[in-house]
Amino acid sequence: MRVKFWGTRGSVPTPGRATEKFGGNTACVEIIAQDHRLILDAGTGIRELGLVLAEEGPSKSTLVFSHLHWDHIQGLPFFSPLFLKGFEITIFAPPQLKSPLQMVLNKQMATDVFPVDFADLSADIRFKTLSQGGITTGPFRITALPQSHPGGSWAYRVEADGRTLYYSTDNETDPDAVDEDRTRQITAYRGANLLVVDGQYTLHEYPARRGWGHGVLEHVVKLATEAEVDRVAITHHDPMRDDEELNALERRIRKLAPDLRLFFARDGLAVVV
Ligand SMILES: [Zn+2]
Ligand SMILES: [Zn+2]
Repeated sequence: MRVKFWGTRGSVPTPGRATEKFGGNTACVEIIAQDHRLILDAGTGIRELGLVLAEEGPSKSTLVFSHLHWDHIQGLPFFSPLFLKGFEITIFAPPQLKSPLQMVLNKQMATDVFPVDFADLSADIRFKTLSQGGITTGPFRITALPQSHPGGSWAYRVEADGRTLYYSTDNETDPDAVDEDRTRQITAYRGANLLVVDGQYTLHEYPARRGWGHGVLEHVVKLATEAEVDRVAITHHDPMRDDEELNALERRIRKLAPDLRLFFARDGLAVVV
């Protein structure tokens, strides 16, 4: 699997010189296996991916959402392939949504807030639902696991070519969680060749942000170590952090878990899993 991070910022885009190294685009990860493309989330990072795809010519993509908070859908109206004939985009709704996915995406492009209606897009767009039991699309086997987040969110275990990526953004990992929750989380991570995981807060910051639905770095790293994952990519960086702070935090967290291969994801970074 080839994995590219197009958006690694949490909550809201953070353009500017102070964030140019890690980038300021919200959630979007591209996974390629056997010439099939799977896109996880459509934050503003999907815009730049769309520009590359439009340049390359018609292709097929599968898009899966962890949930429908703004930072995971707000790039979609600027995803060029949607506007182009010949492109085929299959969009999977996460399991158990409160409102239908099509309704939410239509609202995001309603006339009051956006110049083009979703119904007027030129691409061949197909809507499907990702059942909790999982789906197979092309070479990808995708399994959904419920997470702890206001309004709900889903982690995805993505398997292809004998490799496993575990995508877990917008999941509150409470350091004081009962053993049962810890065990469930460790079991979910186990076997991942790459764990892409929300590490928005530090342990020090967490008490003031309890219930906001995000990961606690020190705790996530502990769980990942216990789960013996191959490699960890921290993502969904807090919008308050600039490059300097993220660099310092990455160094500190690496020291906490010297046996764990860990990096802070940044926009534009590509890795082979
Ligand atoms: Zn988010
Ligand atoms: Zn969210």
